[in-house]
Amino acid sequence: MGTPTPTLAYLSTFLLFTLFRITSRARRSLTSSHGDEWPSLLGQDGRFPLDTHYSLHYNMNILKNFQYRIFPTKKQLRMLESTLEECRWLYNHLLEARKTAYEQEGRSLSCYGQQATYPILKEQRPSLSIVHSQVLQNVAVRVDLAMKAFFRRVKAGETPGYPRFKGYGRYDSFCYPQSGFSITHDTRVSLSKIGAVKMVYHRPVRGSIKTAAVHRSSTNKWYVTFSCECEPQRLEPTSTQVGIDVGLKTFATLSNADEIDNPRFFRQEEKALAQAQRRLCKAEKGTPERKKRRNVVARVHERATFKRENFTHQQSRQIVDRFGVICVEDLHVNRMVHNHCLAKSISDAAWSAFFSHLSCKAEEAGRQFIKVSPAYTSQDCSRCHHRQKMPLGERMYQCPCCLLSIDRDHNAALNIKALGLHSVGLPLEAPAFYA
Ligand SMILES: [Zn+2]
Repeated sequence: MGTPTPTLAYLSTFLLFTLFRITSRARRSLTSSHGDEWPSLLGQDGRFPLDTHYSLHYNMNILKNFQYRIFPTKKQLRMLESTLEECRWLYNHLLEARKTAYEQEGRSLSCYGQQATYPILKEQRPSLSIVHSQVLQNVAVRVDLAMKAFFRRVKAGETPGYPRFKGYGRYDSFCYPQSGFSITHDTRVSLSKIGAVKMVYHRPVRGSIKTAAVHRSSTNKWYVTFSCECEPQRLEPTSTQVGIDVGLKTFATLSNADEIDNPRFFRQEEKALAQAQRRLCKAEKGTPERKKRRNVVARVHERATFKRENFTHQQSRQIVDRFGVICVEDLHVNRMVHNHCLAKSISDAAWSAFFSHLSCKAEEAGRQFIKVSPAYTSQDCSRCHHRQKMPLGERMYQCPCCLLSIDRDHNAALNIKALGLHSVGLPLEAPAFYA
């Protein structure tokens, strides 16, 4: 079983991120339908870029999330817990209604249809009224999203699991989608039906706040996340280009031969995680000892996440500041995360976080971010395009045609850069390497 709660925390972060993506997509289609202020999408020779956010929305606002730790009092904590509990009940109830409607009558319920049943539900279960009405509305939206994701995957030919009923303690966030919250003058966050909660306001919110989500982490820490619409902070344009290859020897290798080393904590966290999980396995189910050990596993996961996020944020910031065009390989993250090797799972998580931070930061800064297919990037010679097999143990690329001798990852980074620039029709600047 492992730990279900960090997965939930991850899921909710993912949900927030998806929200960001959805909104930016909606914006794009909105502008395109109007036809005006649609900047040139085409590269210099008229080819359409594969995956670039750069030219898509120029004078448009972006959505950013600002997360703060909150420290509720005991009374507020009770209110927060019971809010989650009411939302959980409602979630399960709405999901069941959908299921029975579909199985017995073959019809699917809509989000609005379900929200319209709230007055009756509140009569049946008066405790629902302790929760702000819009928070309850948002629960129906979540059920709707879960169902839509399910059907989308069915349609795509996958075999998804049916959206799950949430067990006790498995529902860990709720959201004020419009109003019912504010930041007070003494930087507390005032949440309707809960009160003014102490908040660590470590940096100011930018732009206008759209939604507020309250979240309980797997280690029982509470956070509030504001989703804000704000002006993108553009950087000075630069024509520098880079290709990035990720590998096992180093965390990443750049096409200018710079290397980002694997941080030492990868190893440390891997060991700590293995130890905590071994201990958890040995404890009998249902005992207080097991609960304690589960908390230790959650804490190790949390610590690894904090360190990983810190590392990937810093590295991606440096790259976005330095380069105008950033090419990376399109790693199939879904394929990667389902492996059982701990060492790999930690660096996999770091790579996908690194790429997603790069993409978001590049989009805000007005940099070009290009993903290319990773096929043959390590087998081709970056100078003469000769192709040869490269066993994993082979560290140097030795080209028999042009006698190029180069580090394997550096060669791949050069190929990624060339592929990326080619896909958007940009010319390859003369690399210092060939000089
Ligand atoms: Zn060659």
